[in-house]
Amino acid sequence: MPDCIFCKIANHEIPSTIVYEDDKVIAFDDLNPQAPVHTLVVPKAHYENIIDGVPGDVLEAMAHAVGEVARAKGLEAGFRVITNTGAAAGQTVMHLHWHVLGGRDLGEGLV
Ligand code: AMP
Ligand code: ZN
Repeated sequence: MPDCIFCKIANHEIPSTIVYEDDKVIAFDDLNPQAPVHTLVVPKAHYENIIDGVPGDVLEAMAHAVGEVARAKGLEAGFRVITNTGAAAGQTVMHLHWHVLGGRDLGEGLV
C-alpha cells in the first residue's frame, strides 16, 4: 500500500528501532510508548486488521515474533498483546499490528 506507514517501515523506507525481523514479520519499538516496553509486531504484507483474511502462516509468524520480542526485551515476568481493530477500538494505523506491552506491572485494568 503506497501511503501506508507500516508498509514503509517493513520495506525499510522509514527508519525504526527494529527488535526482530524475518521474511514475514517486522517488530519495532512504538514511537509513543505506553509502557517501558512497547513493541509492535507487524506483518510485512499489508492487511488492514485481524479480520482481513490474514493467512495462517502469517499469524504463526506473528506469534513467533511475539516470543522473540518477549525474550529480547526480558519480559519473562509477563506482558500483554493487544490489537486494536477498527476506529472505535482506537486503531489509527490501518495495517495489522499487535502491541506487545510490558516492563512494569500492568495490573488488571482493561483485561
Ligand atoms: P493503533 O492506535 O492501535 O493503530 O496503534 C498505532 C501505533 O503506531 C501507535 O501506538 C503509534 O504510536 C505507533 N506509530 C505510529 N507511527 C509510528 C512509527 N513511525 N514508528 C513507530 N510507531 C509508530
Ligand atoms: Zn501497510
